[in-house]
Amino acid sequence: MKIRPRPYRLINQIQHYAWGARGAAAFIPRLLNIPAEPGQPYAELWIGAHPKAPSEVVIKGARVPLDRLIAAHPREILGETVAMAFGERLPFLFKVLSAAEALSIQVHPNKAQAIALHKRDPAHYPDANHKPEIAIALDSLTLLAGFKPFAEIAATLAAVPALADFTGAAAERLRAAQRPTPAEAAELVGELYATLLRRSLTDQEALAVAVSRHARQLREAGRPLGEIEERFLALREKYGDDDVGLFSLFLLNLVHLQRGEALFTPAGVPHAYLEGNLIECMANSDNVVRAGLTPKFRDVETLVEILAPAPGRPAILRPSPDAQETVYHTPASEFEVSRWELRSGQSRRVTTSGGPEVYLVTRGSIQLRWGTNGETATFGQGESFLVPAVMGIFEILAQGHTEIFRVVAPGESNVNK
Ligand SMILES: [Zn+2]
Repeated sequence: MKIRPRPYRLINQIQHYAWGARGAAAFIPRLLNIPAEPGQPYAELWIGAHPKAPSEVVIKGARVPLDRLIAAHPREILGETVAMAFGERLPFLFKVLSAAEALSIQVHPNKAQAIALHKRDPAHYPDANHKPEIAIALDSLTLLAGFKPFAEIAATLAAVPALADFTGAAAERLRAAQRPTPAEAAELVGELYATLLRRSLTDQEALAVAVSRHARQLREAGRPLGEIEERFLALREKYGDDDVGLFSLFLLNLVHLQRGEALFTPAGVPHAYLEGNLIECMANSDNVVRAGLTPKFRDVETLVEILAPAPGRPAILRPSPDAQETVYHTPASEFEVSRWELRSGQSRRVTTSGGPEVYLVTRGSIQLRWGTNGETATFGQGESFLVPAVMGIFEILAQGHTEIFRVVAPGESNVNK
C-alpha cells in the first residue's frame, strides 16, 4: 500500500488511571460523545504512536497501529528531516488529560539520564528518551510546578516548623542564607528537598510524626486555611502520614491556569497536576520518576540525581487575546502545539510543515478540502487526524464555533543538549 496525501482519521486509546474523572464529571467521554461507564475513571486519551497505546488508522477496512504504519512508511509519514532526526518514530505524544484528583509529584529525566536509566532499569524506565512536556488548560487547571522562589521557601520553613525540624541542618542553612545568588539558592533548595526525600525513606516514623504535627497545627490554627493547607489535609486522609509528597505541597508553586494558558516543564523540574482538564504534549516517552502522592514505585535516589532545582515563578504561556491562532513556543524540538479558534463559516488555508502533523477538534466541527479533485472529509468534536508529510496545502472550513489543536515537529532544539 501507499501513503496518500490525505488526512488519516485516528482511533485513540483511553487510559483509565484511578485519578481520572468519573461519571457526569468525566470530560473525555463528553469530548468524544460516548457514554461514561458508571464508576470507571477516564484519565487520558493518547493520540500518537507510543507502543504502550498507539492510535490506530483504518486502511482498507483493517485497523493498523500507527507505530507499525510509521515503521512501514517512515519517509511518507514523517518526511526526510524528522525521520533522520528522530529515528523513524513519531517524535511526540499528544494527550487529553482529565484529573479529578492529584497525580503523583514527578520529575522527568533529561535525554542522557533517560538513556542511562533505561539501560539500568528498563522495567521502570520503559523509554531511552527524555520527556519535555507542555500542559495547556482546556477549562481551568490547578497544578504544582517547580520550586517556589527562594524567599517564599524560607518563609514556608518558618510557617511549617514540622517541616523545618524534619529537614534539620538543611533547613537551617537555607534560612540562614543572606541574599544567595541564583546558583546558591538552587543548591540550598536542592539540598533541602534531597534531605526531605532521603529522610522520608530512612525514617518513615519521624515523617509520619512531622506530618501529623503539622496537620494538628493547621486544625488548631483558628483561622481560615489556604488552598494548599486544605489540600494537604485532604491528601493526608488519602495517602496517610508517611507520604513525602505531602510536605512537597508547601515547597512547590501552586499555579492556576485558565483556558488556553499553558506551562512548559523541562527535565529536572518537580510538578503535579492537582485538578482540571488539559491538553498535554510531550516527547514520545513514558519516563516518570515519582516523589510522593502515590502508592506507586518511588525511586528517591534517582530523583535526587535528576533534580534540577531552579527556585522561582514558572513562566505561563498565554493565548493571543484576539488572534485566531496561538502558537505555544517551547525549547522542545519534538513538538510545537498551536491552538486555533475559528468562527462558524470561517475558513483557513493550511500550509503543512513537511513533517508529521496531528490535529484534534475540541469544539465545533471542520470540513477539510484538499487535492485537485476537491476531496473532503469532516471531523467533529473529539475527532483527530494525522496529516502525513506527503500532504501539501489543504483548507479548513469551520462549522460552528470551532477550537482545534495542532501538533507539528519543529526539529530545531536546544533542550538538554
Ligand atoms: Zn510530567
